[in-house]
Amino acid sequence: MIQTTLDIETIRKDFPILNREVNGKPLVYLDNAATSQTPQQVIDVIVDYYQNYNANIHRGVHSLSQEATDAYEAARIKIKKHYNIAKTHEVILTSGTTHSINLVANGFTSFVKEGDEILVSAMEHHSNIVPWQMLCERTGGVLKVIPMNQKGELVMEEFHALLSDKTKLVFCNHVSNALGTVNPIEEIIDASHKVSAAVLIDGAQAAPHIKADMQALDVDFYTVSAHKVCGPTGVGMLYGKEEWLNKLPPYQGGGEMIAEVTFEKTTYADLPHKFEAGTPNICGGIAFGAALDYMNSIGFEAIAQYEEELLQYATEQLLAIDGLKIYGTAKNKTSVISFNIDGIHPYDIGTILDKLGIAVRTGHHCAQPIMDFYKIPGTVRASFSFYNTKEEVDVLVEGVKRAKNMLL
Ligand SMILES: *Cc1c(COP(=O)(O)O)cnc(C)c1O
Repeated sequence: MIQTTLDIETIRKDFPILNREVNGKPLVYLDNAATSQTPQQVIDVIVDYYQNYNANIHRGVHSLSQEATDAYEAARIKIKKHYNIAKTHEVILTSGTTHSINLVANGFTSFVKEGDEILVSAMEHHSNIVPWQMLCERTGGVLKVIPMNQKGELVMEEFHALLSDKTKLVFCNHVSNALGTVNPIEEIIDASHKVSAAVLIDGAQAAPHIKADMQALDVDFYTVSAHKVCGPTGVGMLYGKEEWLNKLPPYQGGGEMIAEVTFEKTTYADLPHKFEAGTPNICGGIAFGAALDYMNSIGFEAIAQYEEELLQYATEQLLAIDGLKIYGTAKNKTSVISFNIDGIHPYDIGTILDKLGIAVRTGHHCAQPIMDFYKIPGTVRASFSFYNTKEEVDVLVEGVKRAKNMLL
């Protein structure tokens, strides 16, 4: 029995897309770790913006521009409150996690010297590996990897052994998108600070499951993409401690990020605008705020508890299939199940599931080093959200059985 205080049937009515059919079958959307679906409440905010007050922000004296600016800045305050951020100007609105990480990696160019060390975890998304490799190429810094074990947990003794006064930066995701592992970021942040290393936590995958508290964590940087948390694509957050954001140089030059421009010299705008060159995704930022409102109206505790039940049920049902192996069995994990069946390529399973209306992801999930670690080409990944049901898990399990029978 799955128990929840949530009224899942009512919640599902908020998501019009869940009513559609795919290949003649009701859609079973289990690709939430790639992107979440958008509730009507957020769609309404997007439509309202374009129907009623679409205008460029911050520069205009006219009323529409004022309304758009007010709504955009109100969204920034919603994000600040949601993540318990001390100062509003510590919220930088970006195009998403990838943009946020690149902004920091670029900014660190002058803070990393030859031989300095940057630690990254073994279970990073490509967007949290490549920018650091590029930073090392520019600076002569050295990238070191915090290893993981077969369960998909970081080996914390090795992490502590890697830390030294050469460590300048530590990067880790809060939750792994490929395995679902929730990493012990509190321990990582505290230990890194003891050697005066800065820490960036990629919170993209944590966003729909965990309400992170920036002040309690005392983290230096934290990133989020709105589209993982019921918001639109192409917008997200970089949280940075004020002292770091003041030290880092701007990432892009352009309008909005300047105080004064002459051909001899330009001075930069104050935070947060120093990092927000050009016209931002105005509608997206406003909708990001609405998405957090929506999630909070449901409640993160109830969401986490229900998703945990779905995860346990799905894990049991899938493991009952002969030859099925789950990758990522960390004690502390979110509702993501990466799996393979002996002798079958994950892509073939994904293709058959799609014919049955079931959306899962197959491949390396932008985390190729994890697949190399397990010596597999990829996995089938089913990731569950609070709007998924036990019945949908049953459809998945039947679909996987059917795929197995067809392919073996
Ligand atoms: C989705 C995701 C990213 C990338 O987010 P974008 O919105 O594509 O920039 C990075 N890290 C993790 C853990 C993710 O889940």
